[in-house]
Amino acid sequence: MKQASASSYQPTKNCIRLRKSLLLAALGILSASSLIWQQYTIQVVAAEENQVATSNSWQNASFPVENFQAYSSPFGYRRSATGGSGWEFHRGLDFAAPQGSYIRNWWSGKVVKVSDRTACGTHVIVQSGDWEHTYCHMQGHVEAQGGNRYLIDREGGIQIWEGQYIHSGARIGRVGMTGRTTGPHLHWGLKYANNYVDPALVLRAMYAQQSGRTLQSSARIR
Ligand SMILES: [Zn+2]
Repeated sequence: MKQASASSYQPTKNCIRLRKSLLLAALGILSASSLIWQQYTIQVVAAEENQVATSNSWQNASFPVENFQAYSSPFGYRRSATGGSGWEFHRGLDFAAPQGSYIRNWWSGKVVKVSDRTACGTHVIVQSGDWEHTYCHMQGHVEAQGGNRYLIDREGGIQIWEGQYIHSGARIGRVGMTGRTTGPHLHWGLKYANNYVDPALVLRAMYAQQSGRTLQSSARIR
């Protein structure tokens, strides 16, 4: 996908259908533990074999954080991250990185929300076609001017407006400790067609395609 702008960002139905097919194929291949997924994958791969083989759909996607250290909490059920005996569903993937490390926009799209003072802390939500990506626990806070809201992190030189288009790989904030967190990390949430997706599946698919390029080898998941 080319760099998005207000005038040119119009994903076609074919583009969306292709991406959906690729995602399903990737999900199926990468989580082959389920028989249902395996059967579905065979159908999808058979139907989209040529497109999958020749696609570069993940080539422009950006790893979402600089100075990556470790995956500190996976997607899925876990014991409560902040103590207590309860279980919770962790709707994202956590990337440990030093406080102040820059966060990069995963995929070109439109900033649909900036907010602060929630469990997610200071955060940004970007919409790219059917994908929605959320970045939590950032430094800075939200201000408004003339009814328009923006995230401001003056020390980091970051100002992100609601409604603005940002391209893949752009710095959109810095790792902080706002919201519900016990240490500096990026919580990265991904939704496709309004359903949560395990970001690790997407990263693996990205890595498989980009392994000849610049994705950090240290960022490889298992
Ligand atoms: Zn998290």
